[in-house]
Amino acid sequence: MTTDGTTVDTRTASTKLAFCGLYCGACPLFLATEAGTLEAEASRGISAEQLRCLGCRSDEVSVYCLNCSMKKCASGQGLVSCADCADFPCRVLKAFDADGYPPHRGVVRSLRACAAGGIESWLRAQAGRFACRGCGRALSHQDRACPTCGRASAECGAWPERGEASGGAEPQAASATRSRSR
Ligand code: SF4
Ligand code: SF4
Ligand SMILES: [Zn+2]
Repeated sequence: MTTDGTTVDTRTASTKLAFCGLYCGACPLFLATEAGTLEAEASRGISAEQLRCLGCRSDEVSVYCLNCSMKKCASGQGLVSCADCADFPCRVLKAFDADGYPPHRGVVRSLRACAAGGIESWLRAQAGRFACRGCGRALSHQDRACPTCGRASAECGAWPERGEASGGAEPQAASATRSRSR
């Protein structure tokens, strides 16, 4: 249910908006699934099939986000996202936003932007934000340079390399963005 009382199919609406406010369109697993390159991502006993993800509200969600408490909480209430929750932003969501890992930072702000300006508008802005300035390819938040044309990514340059500790409190929900960084 949206804030204006209309009913929305939470599984199909805004496919790249995760319930928690993450942009799945910039997730390395989402992009690798689309590109058919998941085998290269498989490691540490986690198979490519377990990593396969078509987005938070799809039928195929990666092992990292499948049991996310925020996803379960919001979808269980029939909400489009946490933005439509009476308790927004709850303690769990705020802890996720503040856990110190850059891709998580700003989810509360993103959900507020979705509520204020509409989800589709926010999705367009995110698509532009993560598009390569050289060739237009969709980049992940971990791409420091475009895999196609090599142009440096303005969005990702300041973010930590994979394996760097991020610090901060551990959120109740795991996300691929964090787990893949370790
Ligand atoms: S792994 Fe998580 S963040 Fe990545 S696309 Fe799937 S649901 Fe979204
Ligand atoms: S209680 Fe928190 S996690 Fe659950 S829907 Fe509301 S904001 Fe999201
Ligand atoms: Zn490019």
